[in-house]
Amino acid sequence: MAATGDAATSSLATQLLNVKWGKQDVVIHVEAEETVQGIKRKLEAATSVGEKRMKLLGLKTRSGKPAGDTDTVADLKPGGRIMMMGTAEADIEKLNAVAEVAPHVQDDFDIQEEGMAELVELAERPEVQEKLRRRIQSCDVKVLNTPRPGKKLLVADIDYTIFDLNSSAERPDELARPYLHQFFAAAYADYDIVIWSATSMKWVEVKMRELGVSTHPDYKLAFMLDHRAMLTVQHPKYGLFDCKPLAFLWAKFPEHYGPHNTIMLDDLRRNYVLNKQQGLVIRPYRRAHLTRGTDRELLYLSAYLAKIAQLETLEGLAHRDWERYAKQEIRQLRKQADAEQEQQGQQDGGGS
Ligand SMILES: [Mg+2]
Repeated sequence: MAATGDAATSSLATQLLNVKWGKQDVVIHVEAEETVQGIKRKLEAATSVGEKRMKLLGLKTRSGKPAGDTDTVADLKPGGRIMMMGTAEADIEKLNAVAEVAPHVQDDFDIQEEGMAELVELAERPEVQEKLRRRIQSCDVKVLNTPRPGKKLLVADIDYTIFDLNSSAERPDELARPYLHQFFAAAYADYDIVIWSATSMKWVEVKMRELGVSTHPDYKLAFMLDHRAMLTVQHPKYGLFDCKPLAFLWAKFPEHYGPHNTIMLDDLRRNYVLNKQQGLVIRPYRRAHLTRGTDRELLYLSAYLAKIAQLETLEGLAHRDWERYAKQEIRQLRKQADAEQEQQGQQDGGGS
């Protein structure tokens, strides 16, 4: 039976939602303030049926109307039977297949730099603190490589940060951001590396394997996190959205990581909303087939990471100024890369 429970009991209550999909019962955890779109995303993560291709039957609001994407769990009529229609995407073997079928990270909505200031109070809100406490309790971290004493922490997003989700390619490495392995290998000297993506662990693992990140000989991943460790927060202006609370992993590894030694790379500013100071907004990597030859974001960022790794604490650093901070190192790298490209160009055009 579909158990939406009594949605009116508490805005913090987590409920189990039972959805019938063919012969299968799919059970997901939902929160009262979560939207129907959020439910679809969780179903997508659980079943690999694309959000856009799925159809939910039996979802009604309390007034008896069919529920829309923006209705919340609390608005839904409790006790109804929910059915899902949709076909799971076939298993993939190659990353180009991933690029086509993987759950696309919802939308492009983001918060501007100026908007972040009005959101700082979110982290202090009791309901956000409470949700975070529950997340810390309920979501386990599977450690791949033990945190190393004295290392700082680099948390990296996947889609559009190190991987172009939206382009298709012949081989996985064509969608990897240029300098990816070089970047992680260099960072690994000073930082433990954690991958955090808003999709499900299945996709995180597939992507990291296909990109050769989880098996690379020159660096190791400490662990990987998915949407389960994320928090949904609400703001009058921006509505409901998900973000990545670094406090989650600070609570999991208090002896290793904290605000003083963590930096997070993500193309979406809203993911930093609970830890603005640790966030570095990376330029999104898109249209890999056009930008592959020119994108040097990771090359330049590795100079910045190496430079700030020497600091006692990262607190107080404004990462938005990273290019200015590492200006000289970046200039040097740019010269080298230009020279290499020129040489390459001569060889390719070569012969004469
Ligand atoms: Mg991203």
